[in-house]
Amino acid sequence: MGNELVVIALGGNAILQPGQRGTAEEQLENVRATCRQVVTLLEEGYRIVLTHGNGPQVGNIIIQNQATDAVPAMPMDICGAESQGLIGYMMQHSLHNELVRRGMDGWPVASVVTQTVVSADDPAFRKPTKPVGPFYDEEYARRKIEAGETWVEDAGRGWRKVVPSPDPVEIVELEVIRQLARDHAIVICTGGGGIPVVREPDGSLRGVEAVIDKDLGGQRLATGLGADLFMILTDVARVALDYGKPTQRFLSRLTVAEARALQKEGHFRPGSMGPKVEACCRFVEAGGKGAIIGSLMEALDALAGRAGTWIVPA
Ligand code: ADP
Ligand code: MG
Repeated sequence: MGNELVVIALGGNAILQPGQRGTAEEQLENVRATCRQVVTLLEEGYRIVLTHGNGPQVGNIIIQNQATDAVPAMPMDICGAESQGLIGYMMQHSLHNELVRRGMDGWPVASVVTQTVVSADDPAFRKPTKPVGPFYDEEYARRKIEAGETWVEDAGRGWRKVVPSPDPVEIVELEVIRQLARDHAIVICTGGGGIPVVREPDGSLRGVEAVIDKDLGGQRLATGLGADLFMILTDVARVALDYGKPTQRFLSRLTVAEARALQKEGHFRPGSMGPKVEACCRFVEAGGKGAIIGSLMEALDALAGRAGTWIVPA
């Protein structure tokens, strides 16, 4: 196993467990458990680039933002950058401590605040779908709608802002991430799929109000780096057919063609397993050797082919 580069996309449960409020202690405890897994892979000889979701964290930052007028509220791209910094710090800190514990101190670890280019022409901008931030009453929502935002009523629970979820096109910081990974650093980047930016005709970048899917952003990163493997770690051990039905069965290995066919049959729900399978298919179709969807606690077994669902070329 010589130095294979693995891009790992960590799911929400790597940082926050269902039912937790998101205190610093809770998040650090989860991140610590995640980092133990990561260092185990490092000991096995893999080079590792990590990406992660940021939904709950950015949601909390938005609530903090709106809780006071004493300081100006920040736009969503800056909230996204804040969340990358906060999660990056927790991971750097926990990785450092785990490396020291295993006598591997000095191993380089770095977070890269990452921007992801999306297309200004992406159809998603015409139809915002992704809810962000807390619920509000109708009066508040109406005022925001008049100001040009899109808000939707959510099944009696109140009103919520929705933003577009465009397809990631390009990772702006790809080259610096590549250099760090080449030098064997554990790199934490592209959090929350990356901070969405559009490229202006003069080449400059502009932050936009949008949310990128973290699995699709992770695929752009993995393909851009020419990673050997792309691994999505979540809270289920394998991808299932007929998920949640009595006929449910778990899959251990699929070719891209098989995955694409099952996708058409509607086995993978939008917003959860759908983007994961899509991201894995794109990675393999772009030349990747294999993509894996599995559980965080079985990462090593999944790499060895003993756990998870592998999506492989024909
Ligand atoms: P993450 O934060 O890791 O991205 P998600 O909640 O977005 O997690 O996606 C993982 C969830 O996808 C699982 O907890 C499971 O409930 C759901 N899921 C939907 N369809 C499937 C399927 N076909 N097989 C397995 N899990 C599925
Ligand atoms: Mg998800």
